Amino acid sequence: MSSQVQRVPKKNELFNVGEVAASPGEKKKGFAVVAQTSLGSLIRVPVIVSNGLYEGPTLLVDSGIHGDDLTSIPVVWKVAEEIDPRNLRGQVICLPFANPMAIEGKSHLTPEDGKSPIFPGRPDGTISERLGYGLYNEIVLKSNYIIDLHGGSMEASLAILVVVDPVGGETEKTITEMARAFNPNLIFVSAGKGEGPPNTMHGVANRKGIPSLNIGMGKIGFYEESTRRGADSVFNVMRYLKMLDGSPQVKTDPLFATKEVFKFSSHNGAFFPTTKEDEMVTEGQTVGRIVDVFGDMITEVKAPATGMVLAICFYPIVKAGDFLISVATPKKE
Ligand SMILES: [Zn+2]
Repeated sequence: MSSQVQRVPKKNELFNVGEVAASPGEKKKGFAVVAQTSLGSLIRVPVIVSNGLYEGPTLLVDSGIHGDDLTSIPVVWKVAEEIDPRNLRGQVICLPFANPMAIEGKSHLTPEDGKSPIFPGRPDGTISERLGYGLYNEIVLKSNYIIDLHGGSMEASLAILVVVDPVGGETEKTITEMARAFNPNLIFVSAGKGEGPPNTMHGVANRKGIPSLNIGMGKIGFYEESTRRGADSVFNVMRYLKMLDGSPQVKTDPLFATKEVFKFSSHNGAFFPTTKEDEMVTEGQTVGRIVDVFGDMITEVKAPATGMVLAICFYPIVKAGDFLISVATPKKE
């Protein structure tokens, strides 16, 4: 079977996001206004827009919904840099800083109201509701597919994972196929039911029939290896979506999980992990130790379940009750 998909040249249509307008075959950078502060200052997000020469869908690749989810930010820059709009079917919106206030505040959440951007938001709500409203209307609704990149943060380093939203039907099927094409180490099918309507970008988009991946990856910071892997994964999803030539290459055999089991610290102290994200562990296995102010061991930390380390505490000074590690347990057939 040929992986070549026909290229249908576009008529000379501009693709607009905020103040950025790109002609077919062009890549343009600029800003989109997404909200106003209470005093009327405009909140803008940077976008890099690639308008392909050929007909195809619109993909949004974003990071920075959480201001300290740093690992994924250079992935968006790398994707934007390497896309060649002359070989592209469709349009790509790269949005590296979805929550500019959290980025500037070096904060996970929007500093003013301590929340994540709320989707679909409200034009007259709190700042996170207004930001969600602007992102939703200016950017999400222009997209046919979304890759929403998160992690790693001050709180936790993450396995390379995709959370699949169990929305059912064609949308869930597409999300699952996109998830495989991302080549993660872990595919986590979230329970997602009975918790009220979702207000995340990917949750709201999925329910609107815009298949969206919720990606977690890596340890806080910028790393060449994580950037390369993330960008290659995005390009592989684009091959699956037929936006780029070539067949998607499925390179990983991800663990499918439906349950995350958490371990919290029993003491105040410093946490020395002896495992890391993406590693397989067995329930009861030693995965670290807590030491006191003299460096003497207070207790060993044991894996709370058998499976893959989904998340591990990044900042090692811990109090009793703080998160240490979570394990994704394999889905039962
Ligand atoms: Zn996040």
